[in-house]
Formats: sequence, structure tokens, C-alpha cells
Amino acid sequence: MPHRAHDYRHLVARWRAVARVAGLPLRRLVSTELHDLYYLRTKALTASGGIYISAGIHGDEPGATEGLIAWAEKNVRQLPHLPLVLLPCLNPWGLANNVRLNEDGLDLNRIFHRDDHPVVSAVKQLVARHQFAAALMLHEDYDGQGLYLYEVERVQPHWGEALLAAARPHIAIDARTRIDRRKATNGIHRRRIDPKRFARMGYPEAIWFHLKHAARSLTIETPSEFALEQRVAAQVAVIEEAIRLAISP
Ligand SMILES: [Zn+2]
Repeated sequence: MPHRAHDYRHLVARWRAVARVAGLPLRRLVSTELHDLYYLRTKALTASGGIYISAGIHGDEPGATEGLIAWAEKNVRQLPHLPLVLLPCLNPWGLANNVRLNEDGLDLNRIFHRDDHPVVSAVKQLVARHQFAAALMLHEDYDGQGLYLYEVERVQPHWGEALLAAARPHIAIDARTRIDRRKATNGIHRRRIDPKRFARMGYPEAIWFHLKHAARSLTIETPSEFALEQRVAAQVAVIEEAIRLAISP
């Protein structure tokens, strides 16, 4: 019996409950053959600023989808007043089946350069008129030995250190100096993007947001072999800190 964190219908029911209490519509992003995908956008969000947060583009990373709903449930009263677009789960089939890829065997996090995929196109349409202060992509890593993140290098001050510091009481920082074959320092991969590399591998959501729609683009990775409660607490702490930074004058 899979863990309840892989029950997409249950996840959507929790988002409906959050939306109801917050007085916000949970809108349909797009329907695939198998699932309806949803988003939640607050009225406090204007064309410039605010945060885009997505989870569940990889289905075997349930700490991310759980972290986002746990944050929303905890902050439901405040939620309508924060400038946010939330994407609860971009790959429901993957979540239900506990696999990275979607029902067509695609890694959605490698096709953001494309305009012919319904889910990716729906995200692009949703954010078309927005320039966010930050885009936050919630992920997990089964090789992770602690918490780490990717921050695309552009705007100062960087947020990576503050986000990790906020989550550190729940999960220690990944101490590896090379993560995912690339250099990391104190749990942070910070780099300028190399367009040639992404042309080769396909565009992740974070890179596309960096290029088109966000001053800051951060990918959070909790270690998926750790206890779910810890991972969720770490994701919640990161989200809280990112929002604090985004709305602080
Ligand atoms: Zn991932």
C-alpha cells in the first residue's frame, strides 16, 4: 500500500479545503487524459513581484508536494494576502506511481524549451504576464545526504544561505562538495547558466523561469531517504523564509 503522500486525490482534496478556507478559487491548470492539474493564485499577486512555487514535477519526490500543502494548511489565513502562484503538483501520474517521469515517460523538468506539451504550455500561459521576485521549485533527491539547493546566479543579495539556515533545524545541510557531478559549497550550487548545457539536456523549469519570468530562481532539494516528516518540515521552513524575503521591504 503506497503512502498517503502518493494519493493525488487526497492531495487535491486538501488543496480544495485550503482554498475554501482562504476564500480563493482552486483553478484547473490543465486536464491530461488521466488527471486534472490545479493552481492557486492570490489577488495580492500583481504583474511584478511575488513568488511562483511549484511542486511534484517529479513524482518520486513526495516531500515536495507534501511540503507545499503543509505550508498552505499552516498559513491558510495569511495565504490570500500573500502575492503567490502555487502549483500543487505538476505530475500527478508520477506522484501516484512514485516515479520521476510522467505517464508518457517524459521528464517534464527537461522540456520547458518546448511549446507543444499541454502541461508546460499551461504553466507558460499562466505566468505569461508575470515577472516574479522569485520562482521556487520544490524537489527531492534520493542521493541526497542532507538539504541543498540550486540558485541561479543573478540578483544580489542571494537567498540560498537564508533558505538553508531556516530549514537547517529540521535537516542538516548536505556536506558533499560535489553534488550531481557539480561543485557545491555548504549545500549551495550557485552558478550562471550555460545555455549550451541546457540546449543539450533540455530546459528545466528553473532555467526557463530564470530566463523569462523570475529575478531569482531556486530549486530546493530535500533528501528523499530521510523521514517524510523532517523533509516536509524543511520544505515548509524554506517556503516561509522565501516568502518573508519576497515581501520584506
Ligand atoms: Zn526533482
